[in-house]
Amino acid sequence: MSPIETIHIDGVWVPAVSGATREVLDPADATVLRVVSEAGAEDVDAAVAAARRAFDGGAGAWPRTPVTQRAALLRRVAELLQRDREEIALVESRDTGKTLEEGRIDVDDVTNAFRYFADLVRNESGGRVVDAGSADVHSVVVHEPVGVCAMITPWNYPLLQASWKIAPALAAGNTFVVKPSEVTPLSTVHLVRLLAEAGLPAGVANLVTGAGVPVGQRLAEHPDVDLFSFTGGLLSGTKAGAAAVAGAKKIALELGGKNPNVVFADACATPEGFDTAVDQALNAAFVHSGQVCSAGARLIIEASVRERFVAELARRAERIKLGRGTAEGVECGPLVSQQQLEKVEAYVDSAIAEGARLRCGGSRPKPSELRPATGYFYAPTVLDECHREMKVVREETFGPILTVETFGTEDEAVALANDTEYGLAGAVWSADSARARRVAARLRHGTVWINDYHPYLPQAEWGGFGKSGIGRELGPTGLDEYRETKHVYENLRPQPVRWFSG
Ligand code: NAD
Repeated sequence: MSPIETIHIDGVWVPAVSGATREVLDPADATVLRVVSEAGAEDVDAAVAAARRAFDGGAGAWPRTPVTQRAALLRRVAELLQRDREEIALVESRDTGKTLEEGRIDVDDVTNAFRYFADLVRNESGGRVVDAGSADVHSVVVHEPVGVCAMITPWNYPLLQASWKIAPALAAGNTFVVKPSEVTPLSTVHLVRLLAEAGLPAGVANLVTGAGVPVGQRLAEHPDVDLFSFTGGLLSGTKAGAAAVAGAKKIALELGGKNPNVVFADACATPEGFDTAVDQALNAAFVHSGQVCSAGARLIIEASVRERFVAELARRAERIKLGRGTAEGVECGPLVSQQQLEKVEAYVDSAIAEGARLRCGGSRPKPSELRPATGYFYAPTVLDECHREMKVVREETFGPILTVETFGTEDEAVALANDTEYGLAGAVWSADSARARRVAARLRHGTVWINDYHPYLPQAEWGGFGKSGIGRELGPTGLDEYRETKHVYENLRPQPVRWFSG
């Protein structure tokens, strides 16, 4: 298979300076999907230099382009995303293993993010006039772009995570270099093509495809990068973040989660309530084979309803149709890689060794027409009778594993839900809205759902408490991450101050 050029610098698609390439695998059968350019530190340097020139350029450069024009370009990108919806969804499905329908939802969500940030900047006023205490002073606080942004993204939502950075960065007038995960770079390549097609000037959007080390690391350390925005795991994120902070860059980290889904018995009091809570717990844990930063991987359930709830959940989990994400009728794709599969197997083994009770799954499923033997499939797994000391309860498994813990009182439920070093997302299910709101208010997580799981809105901030990260994406805060704030104080009647006598 001949390689495609996936490094984009100063408006041109180029191979790596070293000529190196990488095979991108189809997780459904481990065959080679594409061969892409494998950048090194020298390609990063060239990409950052292009972004720097595009930022520092003359009066017509992107940071100084009128906001209405920037907003119009973002809206054009949204149109192009919708034009290519099926193609991008297919690319994302083949690359990540997710179902085609999930791929389509991602494209729609990304489209909405571009539209949202376009509207947000277009509707802003030019600055905030502040009262300086004198009629002779005009004092205004304005926002300006930060500069050259380096963006690093993970493999589970490649297009989505890149767009949550790219859309606000462009809206604010920045230039950037993006590095997608080396495991799933293809949809980001497509997006960068669309940015060029939409008319973004050369050098504003640059792309390097390659490994965390050295490519991501060089971006974190690069002296000409002003802002470092990373989405990925806790270990690599804190390491890269430390390198960026050492250079006094602005940083934004979107890291992992170990998210509680708290179910009170009263949510299950009616047949409809029970059905909904079970269905949503299934969705919370197993959509995209659990490879979701906000996956509801910890079911925390009131003791009186546990047995009935878990039995039904396990029954439904066993019936989830696994297979190639592009195949008709498939509900869940494979894990993304052999490495991820082995990690998941090790977590299940350790949980059982520590006393967890296996209610379903716990192994690779048998191959079938929809599940090639070489694909990285793992059966949705429910582990009952778990407790907070278990590794599987404490660490992010990033796979189709649901652990079950039990509580007796509201205080116990809250204590369990907050007993994690992370704090990305969580949910509470109750028919008593006063109780649900009380519990939601006590949860130390960046997003809390009441009687729902997983929805998010481009206009509402996304990010985590604790070790789930630093900063927020989406919403007005997600735009502010990409801006400097400047106070301009203008004296309309300058006079000597006579502080010094001479
Ligand atoms: P990862 O940390 O292994 O990789 C993420 C990115 O970082 C990749 O592009 C990788 O090449 C790069 N990288 C690795 N080491 C680096 C280094 N030393 N310096 C710079 N870059 C480096 O994560 P992953 O396995 O791709 O993704 C899964 C993780 O992402 C999970 O922990 C998940 O929770 C997290 N995630 C978080 C969010 C969120 O919104 N908080 C969203 C999606 C995924």
